[in-house]
Amino acid sequence: MIPAAFEYYRPSDMAGVIALLEEHGDDARVMAGGHSLIPMMKLRMADVPHLIDLQGLSGLSDITVDTDSIRIGALVTQTDIIRHEGLAAVAPILRETALQIADPQVRNMGTVGGNVANGDPGNDMPGLMQCLNASFTLVGPDGERDVAARAFYEAAYMTAREDDEVLTTVSIPLPEGGYAYEKQKRKIGDYATAAAAVQITKTGEICAAASIAMTNLSDTPVFSEAASMALVGTSIDGTALSAAVSAMLGDIDPTEDNRGPVAFKNHVAGVILRRAIERAWSRA
Ligand SMILES: Cc1cc2nc3c(=O)[nH]c(=O)nc-3n(C[C@H](O)[C@H](O)[C@H](O)COP(=O)(O)OP(=O)(O)OC[C@H]3O[C@@H](n4cnc5c(N)ncnc54)[C@H](O)[C@@H]3O)c2cc1C
Repeated sequence: MIPAAFEYYRPSDMAGVIALLEEHGDDARVMAGGHSLIPMMKLRMADVPHLIDLQGLSGLSDITVDTDSIRIGALVTQTDIIRHEGLAAVAPILRETALQIADPQVRNMGTVGGNVANGDPGNDMPGLMQCLNASFTLVGPDGERDVAARAFYEAAYMTAREDDEVLTTVSIPLPEGGYAYEKQKRKIGDYATAAAAVQITKTGEICAAASIAMTNLSDTPVFSEAASMALVGTSIDGTALSAAVSAMLGDIDPTEDNRGPVAFKNHVAGVILRRAIERAWSRA
């Protein structure tokens, strides 16, 4: 498949990117790794007369681990996440998730910024970032602003980002306790039928805090506060697990597609969430 003709730009600074976005409006789109956008252009599902490559920019490829937070530049790739030992030491759920995205070739190109900005409900990083209570820094003609991952996603491919804004950084408070990213897919390289990101802390044998987000079970990632709260104050016994699954099912809204009918997706979501909670608890 060959995309429609487009103009290609590779600015060397952010001011140049924003000037092009302002000039061309809806007709312009930034590209990071290109592993979501180029397939969409080839399939003629995205019409992009003006394509602005971000790879000419510097300063967006760093991972910084501070005492209380992590900052990940938008052009950091999924492979960079997997290989960064300092990151894996403080937030191993990032590596666990990245390893379940696509295959090594895609992970070598696909960026964290592209994955979270894309707005595809099948992308794995948005749910993860909601679980970790991350925030996204956006820069545009009016300057910089931060948007919480839990408030960023509005509908499929619709986010709080304005057309003339670029996502530059993902900031994450240092996670605590046990973690798990569980993903059910039809085959290696596939998007999730259902996936769950879970972080849990414990005091003694009691769950002190929990955070749960689900992927590809609605037109946005779903942070389930009700499922998270169902675990707090419990010893994560069978009753608590069932309550969390039941609360999560009340928050998701899957639709039938080639990954299965709604009843099947609800079933898989429940199995995946149970597994994720049990694994996170065993690591807490
Ligand atoms: C075969 C295959 C399998 C895949 N499987 C999975 C999977 O299992 N899980 C998964 O999560 N992903 C999967 N992907 C997607 C892949 O991980 C993408 O690379 C990723 O989703 C997007 O990152 P990118 O850097 O390639 O973004 P691009 O394709 O360059 O951009 C994607 C979108 O985000 C916008 N964008 C990119 N960067 C920015 C920015 N900094 N600021 C504002 N907007 C921006 C672009 O304008 C575009 O609309 C798969 C892709 C392929 C080809």
